[in-house]
Amino acid sequence: MIAMRDSFDRDITYLRLSVTDLCDLRCRYCMPAEGVEKKRHEDICSVEELLEIARAAVACGVRKVRLTGGEPLVRRGILDICRGVAAIPGVEELCLTTNGVRLPALADGLRSAGVDRLNVSLDTLRPDRYAYITRVGRLEDVSAGLRAAEAAGFTGTKLNVVLMKGFNDDEIGDFVHLTEDRDIEVRFIELMPIGQGGAAEYLPCGAVLEACPDLEPVDLSGVARRYRRPGARGLVGLIQPMSCRFCNRCDRIRVTADGMLKPCLHSAGEIPLRGLHGLDLERAIRAGIAAKPERHHMAETGRSEAERDMNRIGG
Ligand code: SAM
Ligand code: SF4
Repeated sequence: MIAMRDSFDRDITYLRLSVTDLCDLRCRYCMPAEGVEKKRHEDICSVEELLEIARAAVACGVRKVRLTGGEPLVRRGILDICRGVAAIPGVEELCLTTNGVRLPALADGLRSAGVDRLNVSLDTLRPDRYAYITRVGRLEDVSAGLRAAEAAGFTGTKLNVVLMKGFNDDEIGDFVHLTEDRDIEVRFIELMPIGQGGAAEYLPCGAVLEACPDLEPVDLSGVARRYRRPGARGLVGLIQPMSCRFCNRCDRIRVTADGMLKPCLHSAGEIPLRGLHGLDLERAIRAGIAAKPERHHMAETGRSEAERDMNRIGG
């Protein structure tokens, strides 16, 4: 399938599909403390609807799908969703972003269902800080999740670390150290002023290079600039939506769990997909790709134009 090119000459090949708004954690920069109101069953895409959307996106040129949320592993039927997406001809890569807490129970199933790679979010290596930032989480659960993922045969797992000034900037060296003898990529992500993002303090990714001046540039991979410590097995990725906007390399569209296509994470624009089928569904997806804005304006305005919290878009 030929990829669809948007109005700014970008090939759109990547779908981030949110399967739920719900989550078993309450990260301060993502979710309100009280969580989110559970939507009525009928207000969330069914497994069949999600698969229909994924199939139509593939017909429009998508080749990589990431399942996200909220926390995808709390979604009932997650293994059916994975199996269904992996079986779509044309899907070359199926990934999933998770907080890792439920991996001990689900890692084997995800692997058998055809998930190729995992991103696991982990902002601190200290149990007390983890409990603080997630409000309800236990670091030992994620550690067990990472071990379960490895035992299930997942390789190239990425750790997502949101950089927060005064919270985890003194752990940059510890995270980079993890890459020395492990086949992982630690990805430092700049905090974005979206939803609850104001609950923590922004720190540019330049802080990573200041803390670890021995990091050597490797390549650009999607939206990440990647580095390696000399002799290390793993990689360090910097994702800099704020300090080094990568919109010119954006290759993605997003679909929320309630079936709205978001051409850009940071714009208010949404295109409803529910109720559409076949060519009508494809036409709506193509319209969404054509509507992708050139770039976001967060650096100038200090805020995202998205009108949803991250858990309700799919980070
Ligand atoms: N629950 C899963 C998880 O935590 O990995 C998937 C959904 S979560 C919304 C996806 C990613 O978005 C996580 O890595 C999270 O840290 C990140 N995120 C959430 N809010 C953010 C913000 N305001 N700025 C930057 N990243 C954010
Ligand atoms: Fe849940 Fe992920 Fe948001 Fe944390 S970042 S509250 S784990 S959706």
